[in-house]
Amino acid sequence: MKAIEKVLIVGGGIGGQSTAIALRQIGIEVEIVEILPQYDVYGVGIIQQANALRALDSLGVADEAIKRGCPYGKVKMCTPTGHQFAETGTPPMGRFPSHNGISRRTLHDVLKERSETVGVQYRMGLTVDTITNKENGVDVVFSDGTTGSYDLLIGADGMKSKVRQLIFGDYSPKYAGLSVWRYAFDRPKDLDTGYIYFGKRSKVGLIPMTEDTIYIFVVSAEGADNPLIKEEEMIPKLKSYLEEYPVPMVQDLIDQITNPKLVNYRPLETLHLPEPWYKGNVLIIGDGAHATIPQLGSGAALAIEDAVVLAEEITKQDGAEAIFSRFMNRRLERCKMVVEASEKLGEWELMLFEGKTLPEEANIGATMGKTCMALTQPI
Ligand SMILES: Cc1cc2nc3c(=O)[nH]c(=O)nc-3n(C[C@H](O)[C@H](O)[C@H](O)COP(=O)(O)OP(=O)(O)OC[C@H]3O[C@@H](n4cnc5c(N)ncnc54)[C@H](O)[C@@H]3O)c2cc1C
Repeated sequence: MKAIEKVLIVGGGIGGQSTAIALRQIGIEVEIVEILPQYDVYGVGIIQQANALRALDSLGVADEAIKRGCPYGKVKMCTPTGHQFAETGTPPMGRFPSHNGISRRTLHDVLKERSETVGVQYRMGLTVDTITNKENGVDVVFSDGTTGSYDLLIGADGMKSKVRQLIFGDYSPKYAGLSVWRYAFDRPKDLDTGYIYFGKRSKVGLIPMTEDTIYIFVVSAEGADNPLIKEEEMIPKLKSYLEEYPVPMVQDLIDQITNPKLVNYRPLETLHLPEPWYKGNVLIIGDGAHATIPQLGSGAALAIEDAVVLAEEITKQDGAEAIFSRFMNRRLERCKMVVEASEKLGEWELMLFEGKTLPEEANIGATMGKTCMALTQPI
């Protein structure tokens, strides 16, 4: 049995860079190939609950993420008129706050700086064309015609993963019937934590990114056929949702939405790759294996945790089959829990936005609370 010395990571997003850092920290030679010629991360934020910070701490970057982001407490869940009826989020864990809001670009920079410090090699504007699984490793042909041989290959190339397609065949993400609109703003002076307002046609979240900035998300149901929204419709539609919320903190934002190119609109999709997420010496992690809609703000957290767990299992010094099978044992149920709870929350939100009556068992607050508590368990 050959020890793991050299790993190729395909995809240099949150999961790929986290994996690269985790593996470099245990002395493995790591190469990332990233299809983008240069990174162009969009400028809205991401929510990191305490379990995400715990995982980032294993990569040596939690404090930097907190310093460059904005720690805050539990999220207040409110009616459209601002009456708070519950709160949500993981409880604080040790020195980690319940939440850290951070711009995606900043999180990306934090991970990239750490990757470069620990010696990760990046090859930009490149992907894999063929992958040959062998007994003791993988041979790869890259899109520029060059070749390479590695002990393991980690597919971290997102929901539409090419590695998954090459290894497992075709799997398509499932549209959840919901979409999200996001936009960044200066921070309203009264914003003391994250807020989610639940309306009849949408829900709106206000999330701190720094002491001076926030982003909002609006979740809406645009139709079962997932229509294309034209650029000229972006601002009027987004504003029409916000008008449903007569609280000053939301109303004051409406006039600040001026640039349709800064409206980040995205239909929400999920994907479950059937277990196991590996074949031979190739493993799929992050959204390529378990993409979730963001109802629990935890997809990236799961990708970062994947990275930490994989490195822990590799240190046990055995072969790919043993490493990947222990990885699956530790990751499958936890990732399923988040993806399935998020899907359930999405189904209930869709019913509400379509004016339907929720089933008796539907309890959005309790489902969020229970799942967030479970995320505090050790990984
Ligand atoms: C609207 C929305 C809001 C979200 N909010 C949150 C949140 O608040 N908190 C949270 O924890 N999660 C959130 N998520 C989930 C989170 O964004 C994802 O789970 C996370 O980005 C997954 O990381 P990843 O590295 O697996 O994939 P990605 O982030 O998609 O990264 C994949 C990388 O691979 C590259 N790539 C793609 N194809 C190839 C290829 N063929 N070859 C080489 N490289 C390739 C891409 O360019 C990219 O750099 C949200 C998701 C959505 C859609």
